[in-house]
Amino acid sequence: MLQCFHADLHVHTCLSPCADIIMSPLRIVQRSKKLKLDIIGICDHNSAENAAATIRAAEHSSVTVLPGMEIASAEEVHVLALFEKTDDVLAMQGFVYQHLPNTSNDPHLFGEQVIANEFDDFLGFHERMLMTATDIPLHTLVQKVHKYNGIAIASHADRPSFGLYGQLGFVPPDLELDAMELSPHISYEQAIIQFPDMIQFPVISSSDAHHLDDIGKNEIQLWLAEPTFSEIQKALKKEDGRKIEEQKRAHED
Ligand SMILES: [Zn+2]
Ligand SMILES: [Zn+2]
Repeated sequence: MLQCFHADLHVHTCLSPCADIIMSPLRIVQRSKKLKLDIIGICDHNSAENAAATIRAAEHSSVTVLPGMEIASAEEVHVLALFEKTDDVLAMQGFVYQHLPNTSNDPHLFGEQVIANEFDDFLGFHERMLMTATDIPLHTLVQKVHKYNGIAIASHADRPSFGLYGQLGFVPPDLELDAMELSPHISYEQAIIQFPDMIQFPVISSSDAHHLDDIGKNEIQLWLAEPTFSEIQKALKKEDGRKIEEQKRAHED
């Protein structure tokens, strides 16, 4: 028996220097619960250090949290990497850390990178600059995400900055993306006209929330048997009746 679940698969925490400092794991879960979101993805820039805390914060709630990261490839294309298991996202994080420039974050310029626990306590600051590109080529990045059992989605593919089309101008033919993500700035109908080859991919939309008020502003509805990672994988492939509900999105220009 399939049910419709609401998902916002691209939410940043206070670990991302550009996100609001009050985006703690606990507050994100509380806000998602209030909005009746069933599934959220935690995707900080090039790091997953607040993902496990967000999963723990949601443990006795109705919200399923998928651990993830938003990784910047060498071409400065942002890729959402979502996983089922914390071990897998941490393995991916280990690989990403090997390929991040060894530069310290300047909190005055970029913002603090706060590590928090599930009780709203601040545990410390991540000191390496996260808001930067890795030296991982896009193809390798997508392959690695798959190697660690994740799904790879082109973040805000429609955006001029750090989106796939904006950075490359086209989709490389052998890039095995699991989906494309649209930002809140464009509707599916507009996107397909502007980027015709997008039609070959499953398309999701997410909020890319950096502030509590933005969570859920752009979301997808999924028909699944239960709110799990493997069911989402099936929906992206349209297997066994699982699917993404036809997208009627609110969008801002
Ligand atoms: Zn991004
Ligand atoms: Zn983002």
